[in-house]
Amino acid sequence: MKPAPFTYAKARSVAHAIELLAHDEARLLAGGQSLIATLNMRLSAPRLLVDLNGIGGLDGIARNDGWIEIGALVRHAQAERSAEIARHAPLIARALPHIGHPAIRNRGTIGGSIAFADPAAELPACLLALGGEVAIAGPQGSRNVRADDFFKDLFETALAPRDVLTAIRVPAADAAIRTGFAEFARRHGDYAMAGLAAGARADGKGLRDVRLAFFGVGATPVRARHAEIALASGDVEAAVQALDQDLSPPDDVQATGAVKKHLAGVLLRRVARQLMEPRS
Ligand code: FAD
Repeated sequence: MKPAPFTYAKARSVAHAIELLAHDEARLLAGGQSLIATLNMRLSAPRLLVDLNGIGGLDGIARNDGWIEIGALVRHAQAERSAEIARHAPLIARALPHIGHPAIRNRGTIGGSIAFADPAAELPACLLALGGEVAIAGPQGSRNVRADDFFKDLFETALAPRDVLTAIRVPAADAAIRTGFAEFARRHGDYAMAGLAAGARADGKGLRDVRLAFFGVGATPVRARHAEIALASGDVEAAVQALDQDLSPPDDVQATGAVKKHLAGVLLRRVARQLMEPRS
């Protein structure tokens, strides 16, 4: 199928993109890996596509004041090759190879993944597990939104219609930070049936500041707060039991809610082992 007719404009700057978004039914284009498919299937029909790809300065990866900042136009493949991300954001490095296939990762962007907010996507859950932030520019200026406040509902975020996501930031990992990641997908590269991204701080004999972000089990990435408390007390089986309170996955085309809840428990046991092992 072909997309409905649309006009195309190449933004010269973030300010120009915000100006162009004032047009009726305008939509930003980044890597196009999700948007173009929805246009071709006529699931959406914007009148104007505002291409972000010509804007300079949105494709950097930098360490600043204890944070790693990743520009919105950084491609998944670029992030996969980044020594900075491997060293200081190891959870993201671990998750990236699970996103689609190399051709998708060559074009898809970090900003596009976070803005699109597919509930089964890996990066929104990583951002949540790391306690990260989203940098946004809009008609009223710039602001940062915590990941905990960013994902609102199915494909719905804190982005307003004329906002541009400019970067994400996550705290740079130090030697005490532990991370864990696991997912179940029918084939490598498919969206996950269920997945878990986790972060914690090693504290003497145990873990503290445990953050468990499940994906593929709800309308947004979901924090499992009762399981976090149980895991911080060192009781993995109590954490698995606590998922009954934390998760109520709906049935979807991939699996029933009951199967997803079972998978969540299996994932939690695997990820708990990763969190309890020192980083190599
Ligand atoms: P686009 O498709 O260009 O845009 C997506 C949406 O985000 C649009 O609504 C657009 O307006 C908006 N947007 C983009 N950038 C910004 C910005 N800077 N500010 C505000 N809004 C913005 N993803 C996964 O996470 N896991 C997978 O397993 C996975 N598998 C895939 C398999 C296939 C076959 C395909 C085609 C895609 C898959 N993807 C998967 C999606 C891929 O990761 C996309 O790259 C990502 O979802 C969107 O990024 P993009 O840069 O391509 O954004």
